[in-house]
Amino acid sequence: MSKQFDVIVIGGGPGGYVAAIRAAQLGFNVACIDEWKNAKGGPALGGTCTNVGCIPSKALLQSSEHFDHAGHHFAEHGIGLKDLSIDVAKMLGRKDTVVKQNNDGIQYLFKKNKVTFFHGRASFAAAKDGVYDIKVAGTAEETISGKHVIVATGSNARALPGAPFDEENILSNDGALRVAAVPKKLGLIGSGVIGLEMGSVWRRLGAEVTVLEGLPTFLGAVDQQIAKEAHKAFTKQGLKIELGVTVGEVKSGKKSLSVAYTNAKGEAQTLEVDKLIVSIGRVANTIGLAPETVGLKLDERGAIVVDDECKTNLPNVWAIGDVVRGPMLAHKAEEEGVAVAERIAGQHGHVNFNTIPWVIYTNPEIAWVGQTEEQLKAAGRAYKAGTFPFMANGRARALGDTTGMVKMLADAATDEILGVHIVGPMASELIAECVVAMEFRASSEDIARICHAHPSLSEATKEAALAVDKRTLNF
Ligand code: FAD
Repeated sequence: MSKQFDVIVIGGGPGGYVAAIRAAQLGFNVACIDEWKNAKGGPALGGTCTNVGCIPSKALLQSSEHFDHAGHHFAEHGIGLKDLSIDVAKMLGRKDTVVKQNNDGIQYLFKKNKVTFFHGRASFAAAKDGVYDIKVAGTAEETISGKHVIVATGSNARALPGAPFDEENILSNDGALRVAAVPKKLGLIGSGVIGLEMGSVWRRLGAEVTVLEGLPTFLGAVDQQIAKEAHKAFTKQGLKIELGVTVGEVKSGKKSLSVAYTNAKGEAQTLEVDKLIVSIGRVANTIGLAPETVGLKLDERGAIVVDDECKTNLPNVWAIGDVVRGPMLAHKAEEEGVAVAERIAGQHGHVNFNTIPWVIYTNPEIAWVGQTEEQLKAAGRAYKAGTFPFMANGRARALGDTTGMVKMLADAATDEILGVHIVGPMASELIAECVVAMEFRASSEDIARICHAHPSLSEATKEAALAVDKRTLNF
């Protein structure tokens, strides 16, 4: 007889592993199946996020930021440095260690919470009498059964038509995190979050980076005042950004790599590079899952169709994270995982899509929550706006990092905060206060009246709240 579980989670990324732990905490007998392999063929829990996404990208961003600081900012602190160099192999080794610490941490959490882990590819085998049979193809093959199934199989990078990833010259996020030497010239197709972060790493280490973006506006989803400030900062750093281009043929030979494109003026151009990172979005992943075996419904883009509660068209089959609609973010996947486990337990799991924060870990960092000024205008909502520049913040001056601002948008009548947009130092951390405020439906006046530590970057958030009412104290 096959092993029986209350809940089977397919995928051990941030959506899946968190769902498995929460379900186990709630008293269920839980299995989690994940196929990711480390360099030795063993398990590497954590999915895209841990292995080739959030974690390794931040490890490399940190290394490259240290290098950038040493090269460009140490001198103004009176710190002398001779012969600055970068050992790329060592930097990549450190990144791999950080990844492994996270992989091992999840295995430990599974043991602690008594989640049974299977290493291999899962596919739907059968459904009968309210029980799903899931085939696991690992070193051996076996079938396990469960009353509830949570699918959290994530997403894969989208390739350019006619230019498949070879991870040597034409790189997805995977190859972009493993480049063995700093490329002299790096091309980047797509100026989304992932592209900008990857481009930042290699630019800081000395690569000449050109970004080709199809859309006419830079960071179209970001509040445009913030996006313009970021664009100015990136251009000043030497990032070449071409907007409104149409990418044509990519020629990848042994000795040369070129991208033909038409620029915004309609002129034919060619970009010669040493490496090309393609970052034009991600597609939901159901490869090998055999959804058709049980009639699991996918939409025209290949994502699993779910309702607001992550229920699929099949009873007791749920889907979460990148494989379903909504933002492809690790914390969104995690929140859905927790909510689904709680719903299975008969509780009222909840995800508030209006307060999911977004962060781009470039320098300056960009972070936001809620609606942009453009969205409020389009919706015809009456609002008040307050901004405060980091230039006028004492801590930012002491840090030597005064680029950017905090911008707060509040309802014109009720003063409820509708959105906060930050470009500048530690925006990724500063946004948390704003998420809490919006979850509690705070007004800008609430933030303005809270005592913030001095000197701290968070004072810029308080000052932006004061600016909503035109009473900043320090600007
Ligand atoms: P995944 O993390 O993709 O995990 C899915 C898992 O399922 C994988 O381990 C896969 O091997 C496994 N799997 C798939 N099919 C099967 C099967 N049939 N059988 C068994 N196992 C299977 N998000 C952020 O919030 N912050 C960031 O800073 C951030 N940075 C990023 C940087 C990069 C370079 C990239 C690429 C992404 C980044 N993301 C970031 C996005 C984030 O990684 C994803 O949103 C997140 O990983 C989605 O989680 P998930 O659990 O849905 O899927």
